[in-house]
Amino acid sequence: MSKPLTDHEKRKQISVRGIAGLGDVAEIKKSFNRHLHFTLVKDRNVATPRDYYFALAHTVRDHLVGRWIRTQQYYYEKDPKRIHYLSLEFYMGRTLQNTMINLGLQNACDEAIYQLGLDLEELEDIEEDAGLGNGGLGRLAACFLDSMASLGLAAYGYGIRYEFGIFNQKITNGWQVEEADDWLRYGNPWEKARPEYMLPVHFYGRVEHTNEGPKWVDTQVVLAMPYDTPVPGYKNNTVNTMRLWSAKAPNDFNLQEFNVGDYIQAVLDRNLAENISRVLYPNDNFFEGKELRLKQEYFVVAATLQDIMRRFKSSKFGCRDPVRTSFEAFPEKVAIQLNDTHPALAIPELMRNLLDIEQLDWEKAWEITTKTCAYTNHTVLPEALERWPIYMFEKLLPRHLQIIYEINQRHLDRVAALYPGDSDRLRRMSLIEEGNPKRINMAHLCVVGSHAVNGVARIHSDIVKTTVKLLDFVNDEMFIRDVAKVKQVYIYVVVFLKVLKGIFCVVLHCLLQAAPGYHMAKMIIKLFTSVGEVVNHDPVVGDRLKVIFLENYRVSLAEKVIPAADLSEQISTAGTEASGTGNMKFMLNGALTIGTMDGANVEMAEEAGEEHLFIFGMRVEDVEAMDKAGYNASEYYERLPELKQVIDQISAGFFSPKEPELFKDIVNMLMNHDRFKVFADYEAYISCQEKVNELYRVKWTRKVIRNIAASGKFSSDRTIAEYAREIWGVEPSDVKIPPPNEPRE
Ligand SMILES: *Cc1c(COP(=O)(O)O)cnc(C)c1O
Repeated sequence: MSKPLTDHEKRKQISVRGIAGLGDVAEIKKSFNRHLHFTLVKDRNVATPRDYYFALAHTVRDHLVGRWIRTQQYYYEKDPKRIHYLSLEFYMGRTLQNTMINLGLQNACDEAIYQLGLDLEELEDIEEDAGLGNGGLGRLAACFLDSMASLGLAAYGYGIRYEFGIFNQKITNGWQVEEADDWLRYGNPWEKARPEYMLPVHFYGRVEHTNEGPKWVDTQVVLAMPYDTPVPGYKNNTVNTMRLWSAKAPNDFNLQEFNVGDYIQAVLDRNLAENISRVLYPNDNFFEGKELRLKQEYFVVAATLQDIMRRFKSSKFGCRDPVRTSFEAFPEKVAIQLNDTHPALAIPELMRNLLDIEQLDWEKAWEITTKTCAYTNHTVLPEALERWPIYMFEKLLPRHLQIIYEINQRHLDRVAALYPGDSDRLRRMSLIEEGNPKRINMAHLCVVGSHAVNGVARIHSDIVKTTVKLLDFVNDEMFIRDVAKVKQVYIYVVVFLKVLKGIFCVVLHCLLQAAPGYHMAKMIIKLFTSVGEVVNHDPVVGDRLKVIFLENYRVSLAEKVIPAADLSEQISTAGTEASGTGNMKFMLNGALTIGTMDGANVEMAEEAGEEHLFIFGMRVEDVEAMDKAGYNASEYYERLPELKQVIDQISAGFFSPKEPELFKDIVNMLMNHDRFKVFADYEAYISCQEKVNELYRVKWTRKVIRNIAASGKFSSDRTIAEYAREIWGVEPSDVKIPPPNEPRE
């Protein structure tokens, strides 16, 4: 006697979440109903699905609060070294499910919600993604916060609370159209505003030289208002804090100097100041150089450093001396990790605080700064490197410019002493690039101002150290010994849902999002969807092959798509992808990889055995040799009939019959100025795909298991344990913070 199981019952049967206690379930139901009534002010006749999501979110949130307070008390009492992860992006995605898992509440919530006649997965799907990132760099920051909490590190994430995150992508007639990401429209149940901890951030003004040294005066002030989000560790009662700053105009904004008498206009102008935290720049690996972006970068750094120094000063260890703070112990108590150069201003800002406010001398301030800061480089592509024009600093951050000049002078003096007469070296290694306009090279500033520099994959760390102009001075043996930096700490990935696939499906997908205005990327999306139109309506191919563009790729979509994939295409030209992280997520989730020897693919092949990946194409050395010999796309076009046919079809409008010329820019790029030399890998790619076909279903699953088994290295927990020991000088701990006294514990 058996009737078919409901979805809920199936989930329960295969659940590895543990059995929910009856008390837990009853308590959650009660709390849910209480929040629906008191927080949402609804009854079940008028409640919407979103109300139910919020009622559940608040119920789960309540379980975080005691642990959050306890964790922060514990840090105050024990005073461990604090790790501060500074990033312009935190690509968090959704919070509800992650919180339930980490608190061990998922099964109880599932049961409670079911008993209330609702569906947990349906409610989870209502949550907006916190899309405060573009891609890998922002998702890395999110994974790192998760792992730092799980490894019991006293860590803080610091960033900007963008009112609008990464744009929502719509596809209309095959073209990308952007929509604003109004993710806060319905409120954010996971954040807590802390207006009482608001801090001033200064801009513009001038430097006055006084008897007590330089003073930055006549500045404009914008307030930084912190919003705290809890970051729970995995079942260890640790709840760390991600603190995101929001820009607020001071109440006297524009009322004193500028708009005397025009009260209305002054209030309207508050927007100008508050625009600083309005929107995330949708640039992945691209430096745009806008003043508003520079303001964002200084805004997060200035507010964060005040917060860090306040916490240090009030710590038991730091400074009990009521007269004068001793910063001697600062680097033993404080680590600042810079996620790319975006928060690089932390270096001159820490110097400014120590010099101008704390009145330390240069040598002491510089020693503290370099021992405190560490820098992670994310790319070697030149268009991504931040090089800010001097004139922008002169206007916006005049005191920081002076400090950077001084850092550079002392740095170049040292280089000149090591290499007398080598003026070319001085030019290469300078923080200031000559030219029109003169620019500050932020990567150079980071390398000089940090005690540790790392790339995001082993091959990338090697490239950073050897071939790349950007950091060619770190290749210098003397310099390395001298400064004892540049470590081979490499990376990580995501512990997404480790879901094994029940079914195998073949979906060709392209996970591509074009920054608006980025013409070529948009054309590639249009080409992709146009190919889809043709293939998907082809009478011969029929329903055996579908080309599908997954619209609006984001963390919550990645969580669904990655576990469903069979084949992961990681096909960057060797030497161009710093690491890649999607590659690791696919491997962890049981897809096989077809890829080049680039980024983290190299280490994936090493872990699983090269024969268990589908590796093809040029190696970095081959690409370098080709750079010397010269790359000629038409050679491949003439020699490979299939490639020629593909290009001719695109050129002749086979995929765009109404507009045959539509893709001429793509063809022109591929034929005449393709910096990625993709035709050079074409033949190897096609023959490798044939190997993939042969293997599919035959020895496939055995390879999948081998790959999953070998993927452990790519957990962000492993990476953070390495960062902790090698960069921050702390030990990860499995110490459990005592649980708060909650009825259901
Ligand atoms: C992991 C991830 C990325 C970055 O993928 P890469 O393969 O490293 O480029 C981008 N977006 C989302 C939503 C992700 O989860």
